[in-house]
Amino acid sequence: MERPLKQSSSNSPPSHRDVWDQFLGHPRVGSVLKGAAARPTGTYLFVGSPGVGKRNAARVFAAALICPDACGECNTCRRVLAGLHPDVTILQPEGYTFPVEVLRATAQAASQTPIEADHRVFIIQEADRIPERSQNALLKALEEPNRSVIWILLAHAVQPFLPTILSRCQIVDFPPIAEESMLGLLRDQFALDGSEAQRLVRISRGDLNAAAQLAGDSNAVRVRTKAIQLAANTRMSVSEALSGADAAKGFATAAREATESEQAAELVRLQEVSGKEGQAVWKKRLADRNKRALRRVETEVLIDFLSWMGAAFRDLAAASAGADPESLIANDHADLLGEAAGARSTKFWVDMIEHCLEGQLALRNNANPALVIESVLLRLA
Ligand SMILES: [Zn+2]
Repeated sequence: MERPLKQSSSNSPPSHRDVWDQFLGHPRVGSVLKGAAARPTGTYLFVGSPGVGKRNAARVFAAALICPDACGECNTCRRVLAGLHPDVTILQPEGYTFPVEVLRATAQAASQTPIEADHRVFIIQEADRIPERSQNALLKALEEPNRSVIWILLAHAVQPFLPTILSRCQIVDFPPIAEESMLGLLRDQFALDGSEAQRLVRISRGDLNAAAQLAGDSNAVRVRTKAIQLAANTRMSVSEALSGADAAKGFATAAREATESEQAAELVRLQEVSGKEGQAVWKKRLADRNKRALRRVETEVLIDFLSWMGAAFRDLAAASAGADPESLIANDHADLLGEAAGARSTKFWVDMIEHCLEGQLALRNNANPALVIESVLLRLA
């Protein structure tokens, strides 16, 4: 589930705050983009691993482009950061990929003049999932020499892009977040003590979003724990496998309900801070965004569930091949995993990693969620 981090405001005096205070974990990249925001050009490609902070960075950069003061606090900044500003379009894949019609419509929209600001910004999340044949639809828009339009593409790697696209991009690399700054962010934001922050950094393998989720969302913690327990159950019966799948579905439902109440609370908050002007527009955008988020939230919990199971199988494979229990990623469950590892062959565990990956892909491709989870768990029975 996407849960952008928010900067705690306690340690900076209000008079010096700007939107770049909310650019987290990458001070060097932040200062490069701050310079770029003064004279923006064309297309930026943010490249880095999942959870490294690209989405947050893109919204902060967009706010700096749209708000003349880059203040981080005004109605304009708030709407950009919440993904609700009419001149900032955020695209994400539908299922696994982007339908070509959506890219064509976006390219079309890019030729229109901005509604409120001097720029229009198009953020494409997971842009590396745009199939090669659809990249040409995008290329046409990138080729338009329209100085008011800024594209921000987010990707895990540059390889999936055509050279014609790459040649038009300024590539901005997001290195892994240094362990120290990740610890600092987790401590500040969630008031964690040092050893708990350390544990989260370890088990989330440097993925700041995953760590933040585990720190702030008890349902996410339950998803992980259940996934590890099921992965390590070497005497699983068919009925246990099926009830494990039911439990996973229950987590997905709980996440959906939590999202619904967060959305209701956000609406109240936004109504309080924003004036009457433009209210109809952002409310419509909010409603659309919320509807999309609700459609995705259950699938994302199940993808997380399989991802944690896959990580547990990785540990089980390592332990069955003789790895030191201390070297396991989920070393907070080292006893359970260490005991289970020898009950199956290393090959069995490696195959299970593969089944988890296939399951995640199937979920992204809108396969029936119950069937996907059941079919992975039944392999353990
Ligand atoms: Zn502002």
